[in-house]
Amino acid sequence: MKIVVTGGAGFIGSNVADAFLAAGHEVVIIDNLSTGYRHNVNPAAVFYEKDICSPEISSILHKEKADVICHHAAQASVPVSVKDPLYDANTNVMGFINLLQSAVSSGARKVIFISSGGALYGEAEEYPTTENYRPIPLSVYAINKMVGEIYLHFYKHQYGLDYTALRYANVYGPRQVSHGEAGVVSIFIEKLLKGETPTINRYDDQPDGMIRDYVFVQDVVKANLAALDKGSGEAFNIGTCIPCSTRALYNEITNQLCIWIEPHFSQARLGDLRNSLLNYQKATQYLGWKPDYNLSSGIAETIKYFKNR
Ligand code: NAD
Repeated sequence: MKIVVTGGAGFIGSNVADAFLAAGHEVVIIDNLSTGYRHNVNPAAVFYEKDICSPEISSILHKEKADVICHHAAQASVPVSVKDPLYDANTNVMGFINLLQSAVSSGARKVIFISSGGALYGEAEEYPTTENYRPIPLSVYAINKMVGEIYLHFYKHQYGLDYTALRYANVYGPRQVSHGEAGVVSIFIEKLLKGETPTINRYDDQPDGMIRDYVFVQDVVKANLAALDKGSGEAFNIGTCIPCSTRALYNEITNQLCIWIEPHFSQARLGDLRNSLLNYQKATQYLGWKPDYNLSSGIAETIKYFKNR
């Protein structure tokens, strides 16, 4: 089938685009290269360097006539969303509506929307959290991901545009950048390899740092492949359901690298949740999905990538 991958020059979108191509699909990438890179764009894909807010998105989708739009393009930083809510809403809401309008008029069958299980639910009382928990977002980024999911429901009801929403936990792996504000795994690995001292952000009463659910990018890729023809009209958590503090993550990385540097500590950043852990049973039931990687095997793959770059 023909698939448009927005954000296909970024960390996760480029890994997903590679897998779609390897599975024999035609891939068209739309990315404005604001945080993505030209060198991540698979040469076998058709590439448009365009903003998803652009009026030209409509003519691109009409020309390409894709079956599925896999929407990874986003302002993807929680602290940036809190500092600049208009910027976040422009890409993550207005840009998404622009894409949905064009998807409908160009005859696309389905949208795979990338939501955030790591942010959407807020400080959830249900822990690990299922998709049934009512999200109480605590950042602009999370609010706008929730709004995106509501739009999906509207477009399916109004125009019959099918969708699957994938609520990723904290994704890590090859191609994640270490100079952004997200991506603690790549930040720790790159700093340690350079002999620099990484910083653990934390709340004073949570000395080991935030609890997160770290999922390896190839597992996330597998969820996108499954969502091409499964999971109609539903949202799914994509995580490991294994809690990991920032300190435990740090220890895993330093042990695998055999580099022991005592980290610095700093205050939690704007919008940082204390705890996040996802129950993924629904994805197993409907998508036949479960993670193949645990933290140890995923970190080993990621370290290999950073050492070989
Ligand atoms: P990324 O920044 O590497 O990728 C985002 C891509 O979108 C980049 O290539 C960027 O250039 C592109 N982009 C941004 N604004 C655009 C615009 N207006 N028009 C066209 N292209 C635009 O980030 P990522 O970590 O790969 O995130 C991909 C998706 O996954 C995002 O929707 C993000 O919200 C979501 N997500 C990521 C995580 C994570 O842990 N990394 C967790 C949950 C959800």
